[in-house]
Amino acid sequence: MNFKEKIRVIPDYPQPGIRFKDITTLLQDGAAYRAAIDELKEQLKDVEIDVIVGPEARGFVVGAPLAYALGVGFVPVRKKGKLPGETIEASYSLEYGKDLLAMHKDAIKPGQKVLIADDLLATGGTISATLDLVKQLQGVPVAAAFLIELNYLEGRKKLDGLNVVSLVQYD
Ligand code: AMP
Repeated sequence: MNFKEKIRVIPDYPQPGIRFKDITTLLQDGAAYRAAIDELKEQLKDVEIDVIVGPEARGFVVGAPLAYALGVGFVPVRKKGKLPGETIEASYSLEYGKDLLAMHKDAIKPGQKVLIADDLLATGGTISATLDLVKQLQGVPVAAAFLIELNYLEGRKKLDGLNVVSLVQYD
């Protein structure tokens, strides 16, 4: 399946110069959505995974169906203040300033092998903060999976050593 043609690119959103990769057009196509999750599963077939961690909101759309397909658990990472239980936090950079991501303190057991999933790898800031949370709980990050990777932002470099898989790349 050609996943790239299922993704809509919207120029100058949310600000001039950004070419926004809109995955809603892929998600609304049932065959394409299923094929994308199946393809990620295939690319990860040699990786041992205990649990998948995904940052809100689009990380849920990729991570949760992948967790279902692999028969492993899913752990949501949310913006600070959204999770009801005791949490740990990690800061990440935004365009202007910083924000905090949070995860439940008991979400990962020490030594569990963790796959991190999100829709898109850009600078890698969001995924670095997610990795930080996993490491705080002594989880072992083994791989990261994305629908899309923006090669020119070199987010991969921030994920040194991690097995990174993505379905569609933009140069
Ligand atoms: P980053 O932390 O820079 O890797 O950015 C990752 C997050 O920002 C992803 O979860 C995307 O949802 C979003 N994002 C960044 N750049 C784009 C883009 N060009 N198109 C769509 N989403 C983007």
